[in-house]
Amino acid sequence: MAGDPTDIPVIVTVGDGFFIRQAIDNMGWCDMGDYILVVDALEDAPLENEVIAAIADSVGDKPVRHVLNTHTHYDHVSLNGAFVERFGAEIVNQRTAKIDPAGRVFESPGRKICMIPMPGCHTREDCVIWASDDGVLFAGDIFGWGLIPSGGLLNAELRRRLRDTYARLIEFDAPVVVPGHGPVCGTGELVRWVEYFDWLLETVADLAGAGKSDREITASVTPPADMRGWWRFEAWKHADAVSKVLASARRGVLGVLGA
Ligand SMILES: [Zn+2]
Repeated sequence: MAGDPTDIPVIVTVGDGFFIRQAIDNMGWCDMGDYILVVDALEDAPLENEVIAAIADSVGDKPVRHVLNTHTHYDHVSLNGAFVERFGAEIVNQRTAKIDPAGRVFESPGRKICMIPMPGCHTREDCVIWASDDGVLFAGDIFGWGLIPSGGLLNAELRRRLRDTYARLIEFDAPVVVPGHGPVCGTGELVRWVEYFDWLLETVADLAGAGKSDREITASVTPPADMRGWWRFEAWKHADAVSKVLASARRGVLGVLGA
């Protein structure tokens, strides 16, 4: 079996002067002409020198002027301070620089980056970053390679929010989708996840309604064949998704699905 694609961090080129450091925690940066814009800032502060060197190697010795955090979980912000210290960078997230629902735009000749709030799927602060000229979408932890991004009970309101948010993400039709963690993918994976989510809700609700035990349900709802290769999906993400849906079914919040 092939090794985990995140065992060794790789720098993926996604556009002219536009790079993703793909690992367990992802970050990206792009050349904005006279400065560099960074998206997300990892979990490990000791990676500072390595990351700064990788940025300089790929786009040259320009200052990092803005660091955009998709949300402020610890595993997305640890290098924020380093970028502030070294470059006086502006940290942009929903705590430091509240973003209007219409989004905030960063523009350079030939490149437009839009940071758009899409709250409530993973955290209240979720933002996505859409680089329209490059076709690159940073989805943060809204897409987690099969994970249901929220820990909340899957009531009608949360289900609607998840579907509506995914519809917006899919609408971008991005050739390159950068999740918060794990391999870079595309819009096809977002579409497949929505199908999977709906299938899981319906399947688990039916089995629970038929009086099956938690054990029977967990054993019978196996990962779809075409998703088995998804990053860490078979190892634990599918099981985690099943248990979240099951917990919601047992609490009676699934109600009438489709509603
Ligand atoms: Zn997170």
